[in-house]
Amino acid sequence: MTTAAEPRPAELPLPGGKERATVRLHPLLAGRALAPAAALLRESGRLAWRRALGLGVGKDAWMPIPIQAFLVEHPGAGLVLIDSGLHPSVAVKPSENFGRVTLLAFRDLQMDAGQALPAQLRERGLDPSAVKTVVMTHLHVDHASGISEFPGATFLVSRAEWDAAADQGATHGYVTRQFDHAFDYRLLDFEGAVREGAGSARTGATASLVVSFSGFGRSFDVFGDGSVRVVYTPGHTLGHMSVVLRTARGEVLVAGDAMYLRRTLDDTHLPYRMEDEHVFRRSLREIRRYADETPDALIIPGHDWEAWQELDAVY
Ligand SMILES: [Zn+2]
Repeated sequence: MTTAAEPRPAELPLPGGKERATVRLHPLLAGRALAPAAALLRESGRLAWRRALGLGVGKDAWMPIPIQAFLVEHPGAGLVLIDSGLHPSVAVKPSENFGRVTLLAFRDLQMDAGQALPAQLRERGLDPSAVKTVVMTHLHVDHASGISEFPGATFLVSRAEWDAAADQGATHGYVTRQFDHAFDYRLLDFEGAVREGAGSARTGATASLVVSFSGFGRSFDVFGDGSVRVVYTPGHTLGHMSVVLRTARGEVLVAGDAMYLRRTLDDTHLPYRMEDEHVFRRSLREIRRYADETPDALIIPGHDWEAWQELDAVY
């Protein structure tokens, strides 16, 4: 249940698109935590569920995970964020913003005050209030925690994700108070009719329509210039989306939690928990098709510490 938020349908493209625009992409580390290895890569057997919850497992059965967000600089649309990082209070008292139930999934959650996204923006000489658009891959607690820090932004969320987050609550990884603000939430309806052939992938002429894009069955072109596309990758949550960016160095897919780890894409080793495994597998196949069609693209998984460490400061 939400009370303050009154989301409205998104009207795309958002202003600021520029023909052949490229964006600068800055991966940001919002925090880190430990997660049970058996949650990231599921195990079989009678005790798999216990191990996935980290019950009765040794210290070496926990893996470090990055909590990521991304700053995108668009030449016409200004500053864009992908996900919101962690609320500043998490540095002091995580249970206040996360809630006790959802905090159970994150052991040893670590965040410095300087890792809150407004602080990271200021550090780069940028004004946090200049962030016009925040693209939410999904509304899980470790992605939506910092939403309150951007009251002036337009938040793009898939309609299915909004409905799931508003209905499902803490046992599914959502904390309503993180996103229940009277902010400008705009819902993307990926489940609406796909116009066959309406958008040949890279023309950018059909921004307001759901179109297929390079392996992905459903996408929107956020600014109408092909520089920032959201692609529908549900399964981890019911309305998860990933983001394809065109940078001067090539395309980048911010996969979000459609894959926690690179390994899940490489060998289909699934995580323990998915809202919808069938749909998760379909999204993974679409990401694989995208990777095949765009072999030079950088694919950034949601919570892969090794992959995180290999990232450059800017693309
Ligand atoms: Zn998630």
